[in-house]
Amino acid sequence: MSARQPPAGRRPEELRRWQRELRRQFPILTAHPELAYLDSAATAQKPQAVLDAVTAYLTTANANAGRGTYPWANETTRMVERTRLRVKEFLGDPDPDRSAVHFTSGTTEGLRTVARDWLTAFLTDGDEILVPFTDHRANLDPWLEAQALLAARGVRVRVRALPVQPESFDYDHRALAAVVGPRTRFVAATHVHHVYGADMNVQRIRAAVGPDVPICLDAAQSVGHLPIRVGPGGLDVDFVVFSGHKALALPGTGAVWARGARGPELRPGGWSGTPNTVGIASLEAALGWLDAAGLDRVAEWTTALATRLTDRLRHLPAYEVLGCQASLGADTALPPQQRRRGIVSLRHRDIPSDDLGFVLFSHGFMVRADSLCQAGADERGVVRISPHVYTSEEEIDRLATVLATLT
Ligand code: PMP
Repeated sequence: MSARQPPAGRRPEELRRWQRELRRQFPILTAHPELAYLDSAATAQKPQAVLDAVTAYLTTANANAGRGTYPWANETTRMVERTRLRVKEFLGDPDPDRSAVHFTSGTTEGLRTVARDWLTAFLTDGDEILVPFTDHRANLDPWLEAQALLAARGVRVRVRALPVQPESFDYDHRALAAVVGPRTRFVAATHVHHVYGADMNVQRIRAAVGPDVPICLDAAQSVGHLPIRVGPGGLDVDFVVFSGHKALALPGTGAVWARGARGPELRPGGWSGTPNTVGIASLEAALGWLDAAGLDRVAEWTTALATRLTDRLRHLPAYEVLGCQASLGADTALPPQQRRRGIVSLRHRDIPSDDLGFVLFSHGFMVRADSLCQAGADERGVVRISPHVYTSEEEIDRLATVLATLT
């Protein structure tokens, strides 16, 4: 593990050296210097430390977890429990003895688990829930499915839209006060928007709904990208759902963190079935790697790359930068919680998105150029660029130069 944190008060050159050292640890990138992977919001590349952890697990302790009396089974169980604790530490959990972590295949399954295994048991006739109608579909469909399941049992639940500001798609906290009522029982929100890169400032949702309404956070685009601290004074939410594979772990990994009393409510039966032990081993290594790299610096780097790109695009009239990213570079006076994160979505005036995707790949850039799974939005023509800590400034500059030729 050679990722080291640069000293405080570093100059940009030190940050660049830190990033170059980290980038060297991604074998797929060093093997393909002619390619630039810019689709990290879909899934992230894996550092050598994660690959090593997977090999080590499979060659020393591969067995089922939570059962068995022999050393490999015991080591697997210990590893799964260690990773549960690691997730809690990673989220800054102030009460790890009471909270719970349930492993899933990703955010979609995690949100479904909260909807199906918890929400349907919690709501009663006439209750209302607030959910996002313009975020990722994975954070809308499970709540509608829960509503349908309950309706089949004669329990009517009203699903209301979490209000958003029309230009930026940020949550509209003023309008929120008007839709919260005495029957509001649950809120689902997104931490960082997967198309606009907006940090959705969910702290203000807690202020609007009061201390007792459970909040479930889709943290697919924030865990592994920025420091997270759950609990009062930080992200005061009840559930945090994320994808391990977007946080440098293997595909098919993710988790639901449930605070305090919500843990046993979520999975009263405890373990059943065989968990994805290899994925969990990779998650332990990935979270450790990110911690050592320093999440504050990862966030600083990816946000700076997004600013760098939007600053270049601002001068190109053929492109529209979507949502609040448009103001990223211009408005540096924004307080940190309103800063935009490392995702930039754009639209070319004339070129359809899949054509733009093909042209960009002919120059070595891998970007997202088809459906972005956003609910309730016109996705036509949208191309998303999503860097991670391994992305270099030079890749972003080259991309901007290529985009500038397509006017
Ligand atoms: N929510 C958000 C905000 C996302 O960006 C994504 C992935 N694009 C998901 C949910 C779904 O994650 P997964 O594919 O891991 O289920």
